[in-house]
Amino acid sequence: TDPALIRNFCIIAHIDHGKSTLADRMLQLTGVVEDRQMRAQYLDRMDIERERGITIKSQAVRLPFTAADDVSYVLNLIDTPGHVDFSYEVSRSLAACEGAVLLVDAAQGIEAQTLANLYMALENDLAIIPVLNKIDLPAAQPEKYAAELAGIIGCDPSDVLRVSAKTGVGVEDLLNEIVAKIPPPVGDADAPARAMIFDSVYDTYRGVVTYVRVVDGRLGTRERIQMMSSRATHEMLEIGVSSPEPTKVDSLGVGEVGYLITGVKDVRQSRVGDTVTSAAKPAADILSGYRDPKPMVFSGLYPIEGTDYPVLRDALEKLQLNDAALVFEPETSAALGFGFRCGFLGLLHLEITRDRLEREFNLDLISTAPNVVYQVRMEDGVEHTVTNPSEFPEGKIAEVREPVVRATLLSPSDYVGQIMELCQGRRGSLQGMDYLSEDRVEMRYTLPLAEIVFDFFDQLKSRTKGYASLDYEPSGEQVADLVKVDILLQGEMVDAFSAIVHKENAYSYGLEMTKKLRELIPRQQFEVPIQAAVGARVIARENIRAIRKDVLSKCYGGDISRKRKLLEKQKEGKKRMKMVGRVEVPQEAFISALSTE
Ligand code: GDP
Ligand code: MG
Repeated sequence: TDPALIRNFCIIAHIDHGKSTLADRMLQLTGVVEDRQMRAQYLDRMDIERERGITIKSQAVRLPFTAADDVSYVLNLIDTPGHVDFSYEVSRSLAACEGAVLLVDAAQGIEAQTLANLYMALENDLAIIPVLNKIDLPAAQPEKYAAELAGIIGCDPSDVLRVSAKTGVGVEDLLNEIVAKIPPPVGDADAPARAMIFDSVYDTYRGVVTYVRVVDGRLGTRERIQMMSSRATHEMLEIGVSSPEPTKVDSLGVGEVGYLITGVKDVRQSRVGDTVTSAAKPAADILSGYRDPKPMVFSGLYPIEGTDYPVLRDALEKLQLNDAALVFEPETSAALGFGFRCGFLGLLHLEITRDRLEREFNLDLISTAPNVVYQVRMEDGVEHTVTNPSEFPEGKIAEVREPVVRATLLSPSDYVGQIMELCQGRRGSLQGMDYLSEDRVEMRYTLPLAEIVFDFFDQLKSRTKGYASLDYEPSGEQVADLVKVDILLQGEMVDAFSAIVHKENAYSYGLEMTKKLRELIPRQQFEVPIQAAVGARVIARENIRAIRKDVLSKCYGGDISRKRKLLEKQKEGKKRMKMVGRVEVPQEAFISALSTE
């Protein structure tokens, strides 16, 4: 295809604002999916995406469109994941486009993640087409939100398109606007081939499918390709476009978007952001932006049934085929047995992974409280990277550094006070505040990542009746006054409960955990002290008193069968007990104590 006839675009939208529905209408309107084959959310293939209503992996689809000028164009719709955890993937999808449709629910207005993605699109110099969706809704306020969008982008409110993805109203106008406003791709057709990977997906039948956008030159079948970050070369087995079913083509030229199937075995050999070139005639320079995915949040995953450990390992290996950002290594915990310490991009990534492990591999798991990665410098200059609180070094510590994020919060202005209170309580510092319209405000904070990985989002939602939205991105690290709190049962440390917390919060963490455990652990034959300690200093203490009577004394002599039943019940219960020193702890207690309500 002549690059002049290509338009590459994506849709930036908040979850539920109608991106998938709009894509459906575009597929129908351009005739690539026949009406009778149409099903809702055609492009969202993963089950889990459908259920959660989010798009995890970006997809691309080629839409032939005859515009108002009677010329046939090729529109490539590149789907972007919407969640903060995947912001690097979002940035790569954006880099594959020349323009973006900014889709906003006309009854809701713009949300923080959308705003953050819009800023990212503007940084990438994309043409922005502002669109209000759901104008069919009685609650729609198109005037209000058109003014808001116009204010943010700096256009006239009348430039904001109004559509209903549900009924199809305005969608053809939008396609024409895409042709008119988004510039065609430019590249050097005679230069050595360079294509950017914006997605890489493992498919059981086809192996790794790598989605690329060609920038320069041409990639064809029957040639070896090279991944520029690693210099590794692979055979090219198939090249094609999604329309939306995979369709083979001979080659892809400047500005074209399609997929490659190569000899690559797992997605880590074909990473988002990397540049593909021809092995025979490699390009000199890598396209900018490649970055290794970096896990930000760690958690221990343990099977509830110890015998499931090999199943868990296989399952993690399988998920890793399709997830370059997932890392894991074996770990043992005195309290929880054999498991894995896993690293994730963020909390949603953790949740999705855990969910898939339980659902697709039939596993019951315990996960330890998520923690961020700390850098610890000792007085003798030795540096430690701590991904597990129980491995926090002992001895003379010079400083502890923790990761920091830049957060954007959008909210009705009524809740500014509550949000400030929440952020201050989480060691946040206000960086700036802007009114988007008279009653909506954007607040920018820097916050320690550790303070938001736990329940920040829930707190934010409950304090703002669900109206505030949040987005954040990593922003380096800072030195902080952090200590490790250990929990001891009868003097034995329970590794799964160690936490790294700010000095000011150590006492309340210790108090909370010891209280919780006192309620969860049954009385034993002897007294069990539960202590919280920072180093050798005990900061909180509870006691579980010893049982006086044994179980049988409840049964006033006589009834033998009842006695036997009781004994058996007790035995059954014991199978689910873990020993911490001499103390029997029901596994249930660990699960409850680790759950975040
Ligand atoms: P996504 O999360 O951005 O992909 O949003 P979806 O396309 O899944 O849409 C979220 C919900 O909004 C679904 O229940 C859609 O049926 C509904 N929806 C999408 N577009 C419209 C619209 O134009 N009008 C109305 N009334 N509902 C819509
Ligand atoms: Mg969707």
